[in-house]
Amino acid sequence: MSSEIVKVHEDLKAGKISCVQLIQERLKALKNSSNNTANYLLTEFAMERASKVDEKIKNGEEIGLFEGIPFGIKDVYLLQGQYASASSDFLRNYKSPYTATAIQKLLDAGAIPIVKENCDSFGHGSSTENTVFGASKNALNEELVAGGSSGGSAVNVAKGYTVFSIGGDTGGSIRQPAGYNKVYGLKPTYGRISRYGLMAYASSTDCVGPISKSLEDILLLLNVMSGKDYHDQTSFESEQISLGVIEKQIRGNEFKIGYYKNFIENKALDPELKKDFIKFIETLKSNGVEVKELDFFDGNILVSTYYMLAMAETASNLARLDGTNYGVRHSSDSLKEGYAITRSENFTEETKRRIVGGNQVLSHGHAEEIYLKARTLREQIKEQFDKEFTEVDIILSPVSTGKPPKIGETLKDPLAMYLSDAYTVGFSLGGLPTLTSPLVTETGIQITSAKGQEEKILKFAKYIKDIVE
Ligand code: GLN
Repeated sequence: MSSEIVKVHEDLKAGKISCVQLIQERLKALKNSSNNTANYLLTEFAMERASKVDEKIKNGEEIGLFEGIPFGIKDVYLLQGQYASASSDFLRNYKSPYTATAIQKLLDAGAIPIVKENCDSFGHGSSTENTVFGASKNALNEELVAGGSSGGSAVNVAKGYTVFSIGGDTGGSIRQPAGYNKVYGLKPTYGRISRYGLMAYASSTDCVGPISKSLEDILLLLNVMSGKDYHDQTSFESEQISLGVIEKQIRGNEFKIGYYKNFIENKALDPELKKDFIKFIETLKSNGVEVKELDFFDGNILVSTYYMLAMAETASNLARLDGTNYGVRHSSDSLKEGYAITRSENFTEETKRRIVGGNQVLSHGHAEEIYLKARTLREQIKEQFDKEFTEVDIILSPVSTGKPPKIGETLKDPLAMYLSDAYTVGFSLGGLPTLTSPLVTETGIQITSAKGQEEKILKFAKYIKDIVE
């Protein structure tokens, strides 16, 4: 069993390390790190909880599997009484009035949050460079970007600063940084985990999900965080997945696999990523897996549909940040001017680009032509997925078009950055569950199933692990 959670739990129980020591070590590592992943360290909050865990152990009480396990939270989640900045100047000194449901479930299980993690501001980006805290650096090579927007979270897991981290994924923000830093990252089915307390980017695709070094931990965390929540009407009840699913021997002929030919023929795909992906498809075939070639919407169509909708939704969601209720406020003689100054001075350039774009998309005279057209395309994309999943169990695809770029490179060309999301955004529009496994190519491989079929994904990811490692 390669679960880090289980390993740390055993060490705590056996007294190999105290919880206070464990948390202190991880906090120190974060503080001394040059990867720039921490917006805020939750030192006091964490140490207080760690002492209680040690107290329990000392008294001979049983501790639960998650008790005392240090984890990280992308800085777009609310944790009552703690800062929640969304890596923006706007909310740099904003403190959360309540706790996000997913985080509360982890707290209830005894896990200890130690850090609010660097990310692209409000989730806007694919590199964790759009942040007022400075770019996070890739875990494997500090000259390269961490990926985004949950870059700080993926790096923290890869470096071992946190046992796991909770990212947010609207169009790829868990999967792409997981691939760039060689860890697992799951975007569950839309609604499987409540979004309550996650700052809204594009509400119709926002998802909460875990990042970890092992499949076992992805499974355990999905079980803890899932479930219907009164505060999020799109959330639903789901069945717990048993660890047994990925513990037993899995055979290749249990699966029918599909992959999109046009994704692989995309000229933007890095030749080495392409070569490794194709080679893997051949390996699957020779292992008796049934593989089908499928055709799908062009990457550019997926990207433009996603960005039209995401920008429209973020423009609406961020309208609430006007200096009256949340974060900073610049007063002026006129209310309107006060709003304008507050918003112009405290959103990043990239966020402002999206707000302007989104309002354009929604404006009178353009809405039918752009916004409604994007909605129609989204429906067609969903229908195509429904059809696909009557024929195959799993769709495999690359995670990213390229390898992680150097820090500073993508900032020059926002359009190129949007286009690099070609492989992740479609599955978000479909609300489908999809996992990045760090194996097969340099930026991993993406495993997708029909809604609610996370069990199949985990099983297939285990199968990949068995045949590749
Ligand atoms: N890179 C995509 C975007 O900027 C996805 C971001 C996300 O999932 N939060 O919209």
